[in-house]
Amino acid sequence: MKDAPRKKRILTTKTTTSTTKIAAVAIVAAGSSQRMGALGKKEYLPLNGGSVLSEAALVFLKTKLFSTLLVVYPKGELAATKAALFKNPLVQELSQDTNVIYVPGGETRQQSVFNALKALQKFCARSKPPRLVLIHDGARPFLSQSLVKKTVQAALKYGAAVPALQPVETQKEMDSNSKITRHLKRSSLAAVQTPQGFWFPEIFDCHKKAAAVVRRDKSKAFTDDTEIWDNYSDKKTRVIKGEPQNIKITYPADLGSKNLDAPIFRVGLGTDLHRLVSGRKLILGGVHIPYALGEDGHSDGDALLHAITDAVLGAAALGDIGSYFPPEDPKWKGADSAKLLQAAWNDVKADGWQLQNLDCVVHLQEPKFLPHRQKVRESIARILGVNVDKVFVKAKTCERIGPVGLCQAVETKAICLLAK
Ligand code: MG
Repeated sequence: MKDAPRKKRILTTKTTTSTTKIAAVAIVAAGSSQRMGALGKKEYLPLNGGSVLSEAALVFLKTKLFSTLLVVYPKGELAATKAALFKNPLVQELSQDTNVIYVPGGETRQQSVFNALKALQKFCARSKPPRLVLIHDGARPFLSQSLVKKTVQAALKYGAAVPALQPVETQKEMDSNSKITRHLKRSSLAAVQTPQGFWFPEIFDCHKKAAAVVRRDKSKAFTDDTEIWDNYSDKKTRVIKGEPQNIKITYPADLGSKNLDAPIFRVGLGTDLHRLVSGRKLILGGVHIPYALGEDGHSDGDALLHAITDAVLGAAALGDIGSYFPPEDPKWKGADSAKLLQAAWNDVKADGWQLQNLDCVVHLQEPKFLPHRQKVRESIARILGVNVDKVFVKAKTCERIGPVGLCQAVETKAICLLAK
């Protein structure tokens, strides 16, 4: 790269940034959004009357600096991506004088961006190439126009620019065993955001070189365009001040309660059956119910708590009682089922879920369950750490037929509703 002619070009373009469309923006929206769970692909989610993707695109369109808007979509989802992009009618209105190009994503972010740059080059073969390209995450809709303009100006001047924030937390480097290996200096660190701005022909060259390296060795994949720039360009990326609100939506909570009309609900179902034998205690919901027979089983045999454990684990899709506490493991012999439920419930809560309600049925011929109901409800509520009004238990006899009716077994069912 030669510096002298570059300077001349910078000066020419810099004087016209406010009136001339000198840049292209590539919005990368090809990821799978796995961490959003049931909410689905984050760029398609509703936001301010449009979608996350339309609101991100609008910030760029409103600056009137972009001749071309590229959207990198997940393979096979062109229609869904277009629908999300134009969900806010303003996008149609403001993109009248803008080339809108759709590019299918690759297997990695690096490939997706490379696909976008190749498409831009191909498109520009028929018209004047853009001086700059800004690369932006489709899941960052909260940036300001001012940040876009500052990125354009800094990238024009320095060749590459990226907004970043200084981390709030003290940063450490650790090895694969989670042991700290380096204590980093916070003042020298930058948590980078997007848009990342680059001189277009130069970043395209850098990406070509990076793609050749990754073709030979997949483990060398780059996750960030500034890393590619710094590896293959003779210039350094300039860091500019990022914006705290310019977050990348990753988890449902990132969208904020105002954008999500309702929490996510999940139901879970659990059932169990234990033989009734002599020499064992009858324990239901953690309460000992005096009776001549009791539940057979590897643990204490509490069939009601087992059904509840399966219900809550199932609702959160975390597993089941058998996978959590394998019956062949001697560790669980005679185990207190309340402790098992508590351990499972702690994992469900750690996943962000809260109990809305739990309803249970105990099929038991003898003894009468009703006198113990309140105590059982209170016991379950105590184990789960919830108010007793969220827990209900009913009992049924079985007309003296079948294993329950003949007092050979106790059967239980539990259904729960979780929300987050
Ligand atoms: Mg059981």
